[in-house]
Amino acid sequence: MTIKDKTFETSIPEAKILERVKLIADRINKDFEGRTPLFLAVLNGSFMYAADLMKNITIPCEISFVKLASYQGTTSTGTIKEVIGLNEDIRGREVVIVEDIVDTGATMKRMLETLGTREPVGLHICTLLLKPGKLTVPLDIEYVAFEIPNDFIVGYGLDYDQQGRNLRDIYTLVKE
Ligand code: 5GP
Ligand code: MG
Ligand code: MG
Repeated sequence: MTIKDKTFETSIPEAKILERVKLIADRINKDFEGRTPLFLAVLNGSFMYAADLMKNITIPCEISFVKLASYQGTTSTGTIKEVIGLNEDIRGREVVIVEDIVDTGATMKRMLETLGTREPVGLHICTLLLKPGKLTVPLDIEYVAFEIPNDFIVGYGLDYDQQGRNLRDIYTLVKE
């Protein structure tokens, strides 16, 4: 399969993704029984995962969406990521962050810092994918559907240069 100039091969087929997503939802249903969590899905990458996950959540819950806006800082600190679109009052809530992928963990750390200032009672991480070999920030990640190698992947919400998010399966970049 080709996207723009790159070749990708199937890595995790849709059936396997859905099977694993159901298991994650089952765990959340058990863990959050009687607690009405607020799921916060991080756009754009998590849209497909969030949809399939939520279809399997059977406890009372809410879902909302945030985005991370990147801009260059005025100093040499590099890229700063700002959480935008959070309209809910999360004070006193159990919040479950729904992400597509945790790579170095820098993005998730930033999310936790920002959301933490709004005093939720609990902040939980639920990521579809984790690259343990790339993680440089210590994070307590409660829900991971798949641990994957350090290769670049697309599909099921994840993009290569904004394309490929629509693909049902997850694909790995074929190295030249
Ligand atoms: P971080 O390094 O902060 O954990 O991840 C930053 C962002 O890089 C992720 O939210 C995701 O958008 C992107 N990313 C990391 N690894 C991959 C990958 O293999 N494929 C795609 N499409 N995006 C990735
Ligand atoms: Mg993401
Ligand atoms: Mg991307």
